[in-house]
Amino acid sequence: MNKNPYAWIEASLETIHRANWYRSVQTVDSLPGATVLLSGQKVINFASNDYLGLAADERLQSAAIQAIQAFGTGSTGSRLLSGHRQLHRELEQAIASTKQTEDAVVFSSGYLANLGAITALVGKRDLIFSDQYNHSSLKNGAILSAATVMEYPHCDISALTAKLNQERQKYRRCLILTDSVFSMDGDLCPLPELLNLAAEFSCMLLIDEAHATGVMGKMGGGCVEHFGCTGSDLIQIGTLSKALGSLGGYVAGSHHLIDFLRNRAPSWIYTTALSPADTAAALAAMKIVQQEPERRQQLWANVDYLKQLVTENLPNLKILPTESPILCFQLPDAATALTVGQKLKEAGIFAPAIRPPTVPTSRIRITLMAIHEPAHIDKLVQTLCDIFYV
Ligand code: PMP
Repeated sequence: MNKNPYAWIEASLETIHRANWYRSVQTVDSLPGATVLLSGQKVINFASNDYLGLAADERLQSAAIQAIQAFGTGSTGSRLLSGHRQLHRELEQAIASTKQTEDAVVFSSGYLANLGAITALVGKRDLIFSDQYNHSSLKNGAILSAATVMEYPHCDISALTAKLNQERQKYRRCLILTDSVFSMDGDLCPLPELLNLAAEFSCMLLIDEAHATGVMGKMGGGCVEHFGCTGSDLIQIGTLSKALGSLGGYVAGSHHLIDFLRNRAPSWIYTTALSPADTAAALAAMKIVQQEPERRQQLWANVDYLKQLVTENLPNLKILPTESPILCFQLPDAATALTVGQKLKEAGIFAPAIRPPTVPTSRIRITLMAIHEPAHIDKLVQTLCDIFYV
């Protein structure tokens, strides 16, 4: 048995290259913003999740610096073992206040929040229904939980109802998982209908508000607020790394739920607490989300402006249905998406090509921010016209 046990990795990489699925990382050499230096080239940035433009905000920076000076760079251990900082609790209370829930708990990332909550809530005797377009953290949380996992067609309430009728009674607990804003498409889950189904079939409902917190709803409370479902019985998850400009994740819900997760979520119990700097920056951001609704209004004005320009100037380009600051232009295949992404970059626009296996069909994904100016959006549309209509 002389065979190199790692040889398959190189072969696998070659297959990824051949399919045009290979992904590489680009270097940003500047502060986050509407324009960034990408490997030395100044580009307009449509590849960021910094929806409110807070990642470079001086108030977040000084909160982080002060936290480092007061509490150090590392949080030195898990919260149960080594203790936490008052900052962690202040952030959790601010999240609970925006989400209008009884409590919240912060994790070291949104990914870990999903893994932790799902694995704590269901196990071998239970059933998970998961939207087919859910984020990887929901899908992997479901697999890790050892529950039976059934995917339902994207946002298809009648298919989900039929499956619930067929399967629900065979299992102990049932958990429905959904993104609120679907991250690679930009559309919204049918939350009121999902809540009705959850009540009818006695299911828990977990919604991932990663792309909605700070963005959707008058107060930035996410899709739950947008749909007028505040106060409903559900589990709200999110990230501190997108509109909140920091790093980390959270679960918001009832006292009992949060207390239970602090005792049962492995990705919270057995990992080091969120760093003081990230916690303080996210707390400063939560205050801005509450106190400066004009940032959200500017973001939505930018969304409307881009949609209007696209309708007027790019009538033949297929945009996937969207109700968020995420706009995707569908393209026939991975090679075309890569070429368009490259041409955009040559023209000074940073907008990534998203390809299988991340999504079923290749596309260019645009994310808008409150700090984009009309001229940035004009340039994007002009460049797309040049690419597609010459
Ligand atoms: N859920 C969704 C829908 C996401 O898009 C992301 C981030 N891409 C996450 C969860 C994970 O969040 P984080 O980056 O904080 O791990």
